Amino acid sequence: MATTYTVTGVRKELSSDGTHRHIEGVCTSGGIHYTRKEVVDSINNGNTWETSADGYTATIEAIGYCPAKDCLAAPYIKTKPDSTKKDNLENLDAC
Ligand SMILES: [Zn+2]
Repeated sequence: MATTYTVTGVRKELSSDGTHRHIEGVCTSGGIHYTRKEVVDSINNGNTWETSADGYTATIEAIGYCPAKDCLAAPYIKTKPDSTKKDNLENLDAC
């Protein structure tokens, strides 16, 4: 049965080459932490993941790699379409 997960926080980590911080995982409204891979596996299993912040929501989708140049962190996740608002995955509060 498909489930919709509401993401309210994001956890970041320093990239392996130390040049930037990228998403390590997310936290849901229930306060549970999931890694990027757990989110992508869940999306691929037909579940829906979306962000919620300041009244905005955006759907999360899986992408192959971190968008930073030469970063091989995979899989990676982003909001779709690339939101510039508070609901952008990159702009969520840290958890
Ligand atoms: Zn990266």
